Amino acid sequence: MSDLRDDARASFAEVFGATPDGLWSAPGRVNLIGEHTDYNDGFVLPFAIDRRTVVALTVRDDRMLRVASAHAGELVEIDLATLTPERLAPGRLGGWAAYPLGVAWALGQLGADLGAVPGVDLYVDSDVSVGSGLSSSAALECSVALALADTWRLGFDRLTLAKAGRLAENTAVGAPTGIMDQVASLFGESGAGVFLDCRSLDIQQVDLGLADAALEVVVIVTETRHDLASGGYADRKASCELAARTLGLDSLRDLTIDALPRAKALLDDTTFHRARHVVTENQRVLDTVRTLREQGAGAIGDLLDASHRSMRDDFDISTPELDLAVETALANGAIGARMTGGGFGGAAIALVPQQHESLLRVAIDGAFAEHGFGQPDIFRVTASVGARRDA
Ligand code: ADP
Ligand code: MG
Repeated sequence: MSDLRDDARASFAEVFGATPDGLWSAPGRVNLIGEHTDYNDGFVLPFAIDRRTVVALTVRDDRMLRVASAHAGELVEIDLATLTPERLAPGRLGGWAAYPLGVAWALGQLGADLGAVPGVDLYVDSDVSVGSGLSSSAALECSVALALADTWRLGFDRLTLAKAGRLAENTAVGAPTGIMDQVASLFGESGAGVFLDCRSLDIQQVDLGLADAALEVVVIVTETRHDLASGGYADRKASCELAARTLGLDSLRDLTIDALPRAKALLDDTTFHRARHVVTENQRVLDTVRTLREQGAGAIGDLLDASHRSMRDDFDISTPELDLAVETALANGAIGARMTGGGFGGAAIALVPQQHESLLRVAIDGAFAEHGFGQPDIFRVTASVGARRDA
């Protein structure tokens, strides 16, 4: 982390020829459980991880926004006066700059007077793997949102910053995602999960108690990449909306497990299976929170396993690589495992007794080699503090 900050400071000086006024950072996240429930007004339980995106920033004396990243080639600049929805429509800005510039625009939509704020130079560095399901996108949005809100003295609360991140992602990037990732990145706490009711936006930090249970969360990042802005994700979201509409509900949050037989009669097969995933996943999140509080992390393994099966069989968003990671983890000491994130590639997580972690790594590496899959990136994550000013 200190390396990342030093790198960001040094690169900022190289690119902009100045010392930054300040440094901010925001973490990526792992979703412990609750997948594709957020945009259905449901429940999620992610946690912020010990991998972060750092933003170095200085105020300019004109109205230009200039953004650069260690992970992107070109420096992008735009006049604040031209930060219009037309300019920010999906695909118009293109590339990574849609995220930070979209956040600036979104802060304006949420009440900031963009006519009265100065321009900034902004440099981004990160150790959150990009495009792997650890939400580098939210880490980027939330670090930029906090940096701009502090710099422009907006006085926004964290929930408003989360909304700005989501609005940027939905509008400027064109990815129809829910608010989970931004809430995890802004409300994370050391050792805790972030239990979010996506309808009421009620947020509760839940002690994960992993250390007490001598458990680790291991992330297995497969080489298959997902692309949220296109294809499967939007298609699943459309199915959920169709199911709710057909059943006369505001959202799938309002469908209960008891009502599933009736839903089956009214929905086509594919839509029914997708709806069933959301309904059962909501219940699994509630069960996980209760189990963590009453019995501790050692008792949530079966819920993680059931979540994976539901995503694999009902929601149809897993991949052979993710299934192999999960099966191999479970056969080598993990007490629970599931794919995490939007699906179609990306990462899986395994809940592993500390003493089995190295065995599990070796077994997964071996299994992937045997199947001719690209070598996965395997590492431990800890539940960490959310977005903050670092310097
Ligand atoms: P995930 O959020 O799972 O990492 P996404 O596809 O949602 O995957 O977001 C990845 C995109 O976010 C990248 O393609 C890039 O445009 C942008 N991004 C994330 N982090 C950075 C960064 N540090 N620098 C530049 N762009 C980034
Ligand atoms: Mg993302």
